[in-house]
Amino acid sequence: MTTGRSERRLGSRARRARGGRHSRRKSYKAQWFSVTALAVLGMVMVVHPDATKQRNLAAQFSGSAVAASEPTKAPVAAVPTIVPTPTATFTMPLRPAPTLTRQPRGSKPNVTVSTGRLLVVPGFVKATGPHDKLTYRVEIEDGLSLNGVLVAAAIHKTLTDARGWQSLGPVRFERTDKIDADLRVIVATPSLTDKLCLPLDTGGEVSCRVENRVVLNAKRWMYAVPAYAGKVDLYRSYLVNHEVGHALGHGHSACTKPNTPAPVMMQQTKGLGGCLPNAWPTIKAT
Ligand SMILES: [Zn+2]
Repeated sequence: MTTGRSERRLGSRARRARGGRHSRRKSYKAQWFSVTALAVLGMVMVVHPDATKQRNLAAQFSGSAVAASEPTKAPVAAVPTIVPTPTATFTMPLRPAPTLTRQPRGSKPNVTVSTGRLLVVPGFVKATGPHDKLTYRVEIEDGLSLNGVLVAAAIHKTLTDARGWQSLGPVRFERTDKIDADLRVIVATPSLTDKLCLPLDTGGEVSCRVENRVVLNAKRWMYAVPAYAGKVDLYRSYLVNHEVGHALGHGHSACTKPNTPAPVMMQQTKGLGGCLPNAWPTIKAT
């Protein structure tokens, strides 16, 4: 759709630029190059919202009534079933985690300036078993100071960890970069996260799962939360397991016993309620 408009704009611009009959051939050539460049750009760039098949993953993998009742569209007036409204602000400057791309000296990593463009991280990692395969692809907002290869590797490591969801059910995660992936795991700026998470309210601070989108707020990915006390990798694993847990049909749970591991389906970003940080669904309070 966007490309069509661009072509029309391009056409009128080219006509204006043409000026006379003698330059017609040259203009057609320039137009051809421009249209080709736009087409190539369009192929490598995934602009939200895309046209992927919207599957109800929760129904597919668990049949959970909670997740199956999540909205399939994102009407503004809809009442969300889960509203991760932030109850805390995260302004404390934390040490950035070590997955930055190389930055010019003195420049600050970008985790907030939004381009609105999502780029698929290329790559394929086969599932470890043939049954109940769930494919996912990693997308990162263009312009974020993140190394896509490292982000994708961290996500796959978490999803296939022996302490993770694969140990609790028949699901096997397979990473792909194909358009028909079951699940999209997206790392986006706070403002794009808010848009992709509608009708849920992520308030620029938290992450979500809506339909087949697992949207990880880049600010949280980069800086975690104070309660994790600098254990950024552990928090990232929590983030992935918690939001993918929703896609598998799991709802929220709470800390029931202080000083024991917090349930992975607890909203740990908002606070631990006396529990200890925990990223893994197989680790539970005893
Ligand atoms: Zn949640």
